[in-house]
This record gives sequence, C-alpha cells and structure tokens, in this order.
Amino acid sequence: MTTYADLYVLLDLRNRDLFESSLKVMSMVRSSIGVWGPNVVGIILGSSSGASASCPRPETLEVFASAQEAVERGAAWVIFGDHPDLAGTRTDLAGAALAQICGDKWPIPSHVFLPVSDAGREIAAIAARILNAGMIADAEELIWRNNIVARCPAWGGEVMAEISVIPGRRPAFVTMRPSGPLPERYPGRFDATFPELPRGRHHFHHKTLSSLQSPAGLRLISCCPVPEERRRLSDSPRVVAGGAGLGSADGFHKLRELAAALSAELGATRPAVAQHWADEERLIGQTGVSTRPELAVVVGASGAVQFTAGLADARFLVAVNRDPEAPIFRQADLGVVADAKEFVPAFTASVKKALMRQLADLICAAPGAGAAAGLGPRVRELREAHGWSREDLAQATGQSPEFIEQVEAGEVTPSVAFLLRLARALGVDPSAFLTEE
Ligand SMILES: Cc1cc2nc3c(=O)[nH]c(=O)nc-3n(C[C@H](O)[C@H](O)[C@H](O)COP(=O)(O)OP(=O)(O)OC[C@H]3O[C@@H](n4cnc5c(N)ncnc54)[C@H](O)[C@@H]3O)c2cc1C
Repeated sequence: MTTYADLYVLLDLRNRDLFESSLKVMSMVRSSIGVWGPNVVGIILGSSSGASASCPRPETLEVFASAQEAVERGAAWVIFGDHPDLAGTRTDLAGAALAQICGDKWPIPSHVFLPVSDAGREIAAIAARILNAGMIADAEELIWRNNIVARCPAWGGEVMAEISVIPGRRPAFVTMRPSGPLPERYPGRFDATFPELPRGRHHFHHKTLSSLQSPAGLRLISCCPVPEERRRLSDSPRVVAGGAGLGSADGFHKLRELAAALSAELGATRPAVAQHWADEERLIGQTGVSTRPELAVVVGASGAVQFTAGLADARFLVAVNRDPEAPIFRQADLGVVADAKEFVPAFTASVKKALMRQLADLICAAPGAGAAAGLGPRVRELREAHGWSREDLAQATGQSPEFIEQVEAGEVTPSVAFLLRLARALGVDPSAFLTEE
C-alpha cells in the first residue's frame, strides 16, 4: 500500500474570518485528494507564554478551542508550534517557525497550504526561501494527478495556469484562495487526553520551537497598528472605488463627492494611486486592502484581477465603464456603460436628491412615529460621541442651547437647513440622522 506524506494547512487565528478561510482551504485540500489518503494536518503558530518583548500581543482566537474545531471539521490532528516570539505579528518569524516545523526532521509534509492573505503570502514565501523549496501563489483549485496540481489565474486572469512542484522536492508551499462553504463540524471527534501517544493517535501535538532567526536578518524597530484609513476601508459596508478612467485628479475628486454622498469609503486602483489622486492607503487589491462591502461602486477601472482580488467578497458590485467589453463587467452585479465624466456628477446629484427627500420625509413625519422618533436621540448620541456639550453644538450651528435641547427631546421639528448645518458641524453625512440604530 502506498503511504503518502502529510499535507499541512496553516490555521490563521488572528480573527474568526481568517480562521474560517483557513478551514475552507483545509476543506478544499481534503476534497481534492479524494480517496488517495494523505493526512491533512492543521498547523497553529503562537505563544503559550505571553507577549514577546518587541511587539504588543494582538488579540487572537484561543489555540486549544481552535485546534478542537479544526479537528472536528476534518483535520487529522493539529500541531501547535509554540515560541514566545510568535506572540506578535511578525511574518518573518512565523515563516521561520513554519520552516522549522516542516523541515527539521522526518516526516516532511509534501505540501503546505496557506490561505491567501497579507500574512499568508509572506509566511509562505519566507518558509519556502528558508527551505529552498517551491512555492505556488494564489491557487484557486487543486487537482490530483499523481501529484498535486494547482490551478492559478495568470496573465491578468485571462488564462488558468496549472502548476505543480517536482515530485520529491518537498515540501512545496501553496497559497490558496478560500472558496466554498465551511466544512461540516462533527463535535466529539477531538481527543487530546494523551499527548504522549505517538503522532496520529491523538489530536493535539504541542511542539516547543527552538530559537527563531529572521531569515533576511530583519530587525524590528517598532510596531504600529494598521493605519485607521486602511482599517476603515477594509471594514466599510460601502466602498466607492475609482481607476485610471477617471482621467484626472479633478475627475477623482468628483468620485470623492459621490463617496461622501453614499457614506462610503473611497478606494482606488494602482494607476489612480500612482497618479497621486488617492493615498496609498486607499489602494484596493492584491497589494492593497481587501474589502468586503455590502455595496461596491467601481468607476473607470478595467477589472484587472490584481484589483478585483480586493473586492472578491463584495456583496453587490456596480461597475461603470465606457467600454462595454471591460472585464470588470464579468464580475459586476450591475453594469453601467457610461462615461465617468458625465455619470459621476449625475449620480451624485441623484443620491443627494434622494437623501434630501428622505430628510424631508423624516421631518414631516408625525412626532413620535417611525424614524422621526429616532432623530432627537441620534443627534444627542452623535453630539456625545464627539464629546460636545449642548452649548458647543449650539455655537457650531448658530442656535441656542435650549433649541438643541428641544431637538434632542423631540419637541421641535428642525428645518432641513439646520440639519445640514448640524451634519457639517459634527463632520458626518446628513444620512447619519436617518439611521435609527
Ligand atoms: C504583481 C502585481 C500586483 C498588482 N497589484 C495591484 C493592486 O493591488 N491593485 C490594483 O489596482 N492594481 C494592481 N496591479 C495593477 C493591475 O494589474 C492593473 O494594471 C490595474 O489594476 C489597472 O488599473 P485601472 O483599472 O485603473 O486602469 P486600466 O486598466 O487602464 O483601466 C482603465 C479603465 O477605465 C475605462 N475608462 C477610460 N476612460 C473612461 C471614462 N471616461 N469613463 C468610464 N470608463 C473609462 C477603460 O475602458 C478601462 O477599462 C498589480 C499588478 C501587478 C503586476
């Protein structure tokens, strides 16, 4: 009977979304190998002994509970690579740790899979470099042909390349785009009671790692959180993104107005950033931010795969392009063939008009009924969130503190002009007053 080398999947515990992406990759690996039978093993990197000296310890999912879930969703077992330096977020040390787990002694896995993410790509490349091993980037599908063959988009997504690593040269590192549902969970499979049993007989292997050397001789100077702008873009429920087709800084500025009217975060393609129409933090795509908005409006972008990679999880994508053959339309839920110069100002005006209509409806609604009931508390909530007193807000809007008090108590119906002044003073979009939550 042929015995096969194990397949490893790195489980990313930085947050629930990334962990689920890892579990989906694990499921894709398991379904591709069918009946030929190698073990699919989960790898967790972390520290059981507190923070490293150099980096603040970020919040992560709990190791043992995550290992249990991975096994209950199909991992043969989980190896926990433990070192104090893995408490931070350094991908160079995580790459060194993965290389140590995969390469220091038999059995060496045949392939190591990592979900595509900012960290996944770096860790795979660093581990592959340390072990002088092969690497396959951005696989979307796996096929078994006496060896694992990865299907990856190439030449801007125009063709699918089939890539494999020479058999025997192992391990190979593969970054994979997660897709499909979460694998089914079968509670009760997990047994970690006898960790001294030989591998394969229990489900949780604790491996204390020896010293981790940064492969490129990198030295950590300081740690800082992801810039606020970047985080807002990646978490925003609405994104408006523009590309080279906007033609100029002025064209891009018009898109900024549309984004403000829709209460959306602004994103950009590489050429728009290169032209300095938008900051680098606004770049969406493979080398930029990954977003997952409910609504994405993309104007004047061709739809290169490196850009759309950052919009793969958008719920509803509206694309505007003057070229009816533009690749972005293949991915769009709604396509508009139009010139951005005409479309953007017209669309912004329509959005603003609709907003004003909503405001007017709100103001005309009977006091105490529906959305109007939420207006006073909403004004108060926004004022308090800004740390302002009623006097501060009165001064900023040219009203008396008593008037502000009456608005907050729902005793007066303010004019549209007042609400617009209020929105400007609080630095929010007027639609902020329409939200009851
Ligand atoms: C390794 C690598 C990584 C990369 N990473 C990224 C990344 O993270 N993010 C990224 O964005 N790019 C990235 N790129 C670049 C990417 O391949 C594309 O070149 C880029 O996304 C194209 O940007 P664009 O759509 O704005 O420009 P173009 O491809 O030039 O498209 C412009 C579009 O605008 C349309 N248009 C022109 N005029 C108008 C008008 N008046 N009205 C309406 N439509 C109009 C055109 O029909 C065209 O479809 C990467 C490339 C490489 C090689």
